[in-house]
Amino acid sequence: MNEPIAYHGAIFYFKETATIANLPINKDKLSDQDTQYVYIEDGVLVVDAGKIKFAGNFSELKNKFPGIKVVDYKNKIITPGFIDTHQHATQSAIVAAYGDKLLEWLDNYVFPSESSYSDKASATKDLTFFLDQLVSNGTTTAVSYGPLFYEASDIFFEELKKRNMRFITGNIIMDENSPANLQLTTQVNYDNCQKLIAKWHNKNRLSYCISPRFALACSGAMLEMCGALKKEHPDCYIQTHLDENLNEIAAVKKLYPKLKNYFDVYDHYGLATDRTIFGHCIHTTDAELEAFKKTGAIISWCPLSNNFLGSGLFNFARALKYTDKITLGTDWGAGNCLSMFAVLDDAYKVSMLNSVKLPSMVRWYMATYGAARALQLHDKIGTFKPGKEADFVVIDPNATPYLKYRREKVSDIFELLFILMTLGSEENIKATYIYGECAYLGD
Ligand SMILES: [Zn+2]
Repeated sequence: MNEPIAYHGAIFYFKETATIANLPINKDKLSDQDTQYVYIEDGVLVVDAGKIKFAGNFSELKNKFPGIKVVDYKNKIITPGFIDTHQHATQSAIVAAYGDKLLEWLDNYVFPSESSYSDKASATKDLTFFLDQLVSNGTTTAVSYGPLFYEASDIFFEELKKRNMRFITGNIIMDENSPANLQLTTQVNYDNCQKLIAKWHNKNRLSYCISPRFALACSGAMLEMCGALKKEHPDCYIQTHLDENLNEIAAVKKLYPKLKNYFDVYDHYGLATDRTIFGHCIHTTDAELEAFKKTGAIISWCPLSNNFLGSGLFNFARALKYTDKITLGTDWGAGNCLSMFAVLDDAYKVSMLNSVKLPSMVRWYMATYGAARALQLHDKIGTFKPGKEADFVVIDPNATPYLKYRREKVSDIFELLFILMTLGSEENIKATYIYGECAYLGD
């Protein structure tokens, strides 16, 4: 039988009341009332049977848990795992592909690569590698596009079950503007989805996500089928792409001249819900942002990918006027890094290009507890309140000679988070724990 274990290090997490609006910008603007985070330098996290039992001062441990086993992570930060809300599990083989924007990049790199997922052995190898990489980057939960074929998607769920990850995914769906071997009929897709939902949705820590690639890759009949699935299974998630690229938007407009805008195409088919994650949303109109507000749909901002494909600059301040359900994704595939540090860094730089200073706490929140809230998983993950699932990372802020040097000049948690997000990488992840079990241990 497993005994409770104490992890000794600095503890950082957001309180359950934290929102983008009430997060402090820096230590000068801080009062006791508006401290929406907990940071304890000499802290301890106690985990029992996969759940958080206690997070507090190390000095309290002896009295509260006499004789408990202690794992030493002194000089490191213990914090809830990262949540990546947009990624393609099947694109590891084509990251860093030269020279194309979205539509050409799909034709020249993505579709040929995704064809290899018809082979089970190759799918297993690729997906296992992908998940190992994800965990070594400190990401414990993700919203992910899975393989198109049923067998490969089933393998992906099986691998996620083995790792006991809290994860949202589903088979990617398309039947247009793509190679014939990747176009499954509406009926085949419907049957595949139903089988996967029956086998995996709400099983272990897994949620099924209805995943039409985007409006240009799906016929109206296919989007209608996706809407019907959602009606049959209201607690399933939906993920798709929206307003990523100007040529894409023009093509959607041509295809659906009678609908108000791109968002309206998804809404028309019943796909714009408070459990829908829309990737990118760079070129959204005010009317579309108003629709986000009305439906409660979630934005996944993917600055790494947007910069790589030259898609455009997401305007955080403008979107925030309508919705605070703004989360962050790597968009692994077009995004060239699985580290949320890299995403957070580019989010800052993109905002600077829009003349908006994005505060450290706000960014970190969007990649952790804020994403948990948007995904309606905040009763389970994203913070260290007792009873929550113990998904956490151990970050070494001194992982490189330069970081060690730079950290000596750091005076508070705001600055510490900022330098981690600006200079950090996979090297800073010392360990990743999933449901209280060590899933990755670095050197
Ligand atoms: Zn994507």
